[in-house]
Amino acid sequence: MGPFVRWNGLAASSARTSTEIVLLDPEDHLIGQLRFRACPECRTGQILDIRVCDAWQRQGLGRELVRSLLAHRLGYRWSTTLQTRDGRAFFLAMTEETAVALPQGGPLCGHLMGRIRRTWRGFLDR
Ligand SMILES: [Zn+2]
Repeated sequence: MGPFVRWNGLAASSARTSTEIVLLDPEDHLIGQLRFRACPECRTGQILDIRVCDAWQRQGLGRELVRSLLAHRLGYRWSTTLQTRDGRAFFLAMTEETAVALPQGGPLCGHLMGRIRRTWRGFLDR
């Protein structure tokens, strides 16, 4: 059995808090994570952070996380925090695959402005 996706903190999901989607291996170990914020009012979202642990890289799990996010927030306008070079390549590929634009630093709605600032780490950071 492969890894599977689980959503944490969905109930509390709002523009002010970040929500995470996690990937767990069959023994429930955390192997990947995507954090985002989304404003249901303006249907605007920002991906804050995405990573997959080393042992599970290059198996399409990052894509799995993004696809899961987009599927659960259809019709949202997305952007990301600062993208590394690999991050840019990753999100460009995701945009080609899903036809959803994922620009770096795209406009946020007023509810999403401020507060959280984070740079990319983990599997996009190389
Ligand atoms: Zn908003």
